Amino acid sequence: MNRSLYNENSENILRNTAISKSDIFNIIGNPIEDIFLTYFEFCTNDLELNSSKFGLENSYFFYWDKEDVNSGGTYNNGSYIMYVSKEQIIKLNEKLNENKFFTNYRLKRYFSLSQCIDLEYLMFQTSIIFTYYHEFAHLVQKREGQFDNQISNISNLISYNHISEYDSDLNGCQFVCLKIIDLCELKSINSNDDVFKLLAVGLSGILITILLFYKKEFKTDTEIEPFYLNEGTHPHHIVKISYILEHYHEIAKANHIDFKIVDLLKEAFEISAIYFDNPKFFTDYLDLYQEQIPQINNYIGEIYDEAIKLKSLMMQNYSKYDL
Ligand SMILES: [Zn+2]
Repeated sequence: MNRSLYNENSENILRNTAISKSDIFNIIGNPIEDIFLTYFEFCTNDLELNSSKFGLENSYFFYWDKEDVNSGGTYNNGSYIMYVSKEQIIKLNEKLNENKFFTNYRLKRYFSLSQCIDLEYLMFQTSIIFTYYHEFAHLVQKREGQFDNQISNISNLISYNHISEYDSDLNGCQFVCLKIIDLCELKSINSNDDVFKLLAVGLSGILITILLFYKKEFKTDTEIEPFYLNEGTHPHHIVKISYILEHYHEIAKANHIDFKIVDLLKEAFEISAIYFDNPKFFTDYLDLYQEQIPQINNYIGEIYDEAIKLKSLMMQNYSKYDL
């Protein structure tokens, strides 16, 4: 792995942005340095490939030396900066670094699939892919000169933060879905059941990312937040999960893969419940989701109606990827 590339990147960030040295996590010599470097390479290679297509020259990625699970993408001093906290990588790695997760008896139906694909690693990868493309969409939304012109166009019924999160989440989840589809092709996996299971693993990678962020720790059921719609800095996680699932389904369908949305949600919830070792938490979520479906769908419709008015969003610029 390329340490010198990592060091060079850190120096460029210090030279060209307002980020200070103490913000950048020093991965060199860390017990999981190779993991940090692998994802650093993934993120910087993609930035190099795609940032200029979106007018985001001078884009940088770094690991923020922070104890919270967090990530972000922002415009800073003439540069675009994307970060993932060191804690996010460490937390994910803690549970997914050994091939023990999918050997849980409640996931024994995954055993044969786990013989040909490292499912823990796949879950880790999909979490990072989701995070990276989510934050990349935030960079696109914040590119110079775009943001201020657009914000006055939206109705004050929906917060701009919810609209930009929606846009970023859709970008993140579609790349996860495409990653799973590519993997199925690469490994010649054709059975509906196996494709469904891999899609569930990918969706679980997204769920655990969202929930690690919302719930820094999963200890007790009393931590469940009450349901809300147009409040808070981010949409309620059940709202996020709902539109992510819908978009994930659309991307799969466009690639001739179909499944029942609720089946995939239950499967991904089951995997995530094992990750967090808290089955009741997820049963409660599923109940909340089923109870609130009409309100959630209505709210997502309202977000969509506002989102399509904003030219700065990724959804209006997606064709620039030139996929
Ligand atoms: Zn975001």
